[in-house]
Amino acid sequence: MRWTPSGDSSDVEDQRGSGGGFRFGGVHIGCGGAVILLVLSLLFHKNFFALLGTGDQTGSGPVATRPVQETPGESTERQFVTFVLNDTQKTWPRILSQQSDASYHHAKLVLFRDSINSGCGYAQAASGPFYCPEDEKVYIDLAFYDELKQRFGASGDFAQAYVIAHEIGHHVQKILGIEEKVHSAMEGDSRHAKQYSVRLELQADCFAGIWAHSTQQRNLLEAGDVEEGLNAAAAVGDDRLQRMAGKTVNPESFTHGSSAQRSSWFKRGFDAGKISDCDTFASGAVR
Ligand SMILES: [Zn+2]
Repeated sequence: MRWTPSGDSSDVEDQRGSGGGFRFGGVHIGCGGAVILLVLSLLFHKNFFALLGTGDQTGSGPVATRPVQETPGESTERQFVTFVLNDTQKTWPRILSQQSDASYHHAKLVLFRDSINSGCGYAQAASGPFYCPEDEKVYIDLAFYDELKQRFGASGDFAQAYVIAHEIGHHVQKILGIEEKVHSAMEGDSRHAKQYSVRLELQADCFAGIWAHSTQQRNLLEAGDVEEGLNAAAAVGDDRLQRMAGKTVNPESFTHGSSAQRSSWFKRGFDAGKISDCDTFASGAVR
């Protein structure tokens, strides 16, 4: 991909130095410490957290960070992720205004290491990058990119770009009101929750393809980039993941879609760059 470091972005929150514990008014305490304070507060009906200088008991929200140590490789990845985030967020306002009644607002991206207290709860890096609709933030531990390359065999910068574009695809679903509709449908029909999840994920892949289409129009793609994107989408298909884990492939248990489905929906978005081509909820669209 043709890209240039665009410098820091106010949309990127670097929490790699925050160590995954709780931080109150500059005092860093571990989970055990927070539990003790909570127990004391409950016993004495007094907010012991306040003694630490703030009344924030949630442990989420902006966290003061130590300076972040990063390798040259991580620095490049951070700059690339920042570039892709900025580019997706420059592109979607235009697409939404041309193709929908919705208007875009920015998501944030949080860099973390190992674990994080997100607006959607505690998460470990092992569960992969994710988008939290509650706080409208994308969370990623850059170590995932090593895994993507080494374990899943998806290399290349466009494979990395696809990951961010997919998560921003979920943000677009939130803006379009799709995410909310699907989640209430899932609650009312829990037997089919996995099918709803697959359709939601495949649509995020299709939306990632729409962004990729725009990069092609703007001449940012190099030879092999599209294949890297398609390959990355296939690499994280549920059937492949199940095979890698030594399990038999069970489509009933899919939450994201098969490799073939994921790359084909990415391709659909990529071909014409149209939201209307990404209706994974139409009857018969996903089998
Ligand atoms: Zn997803």
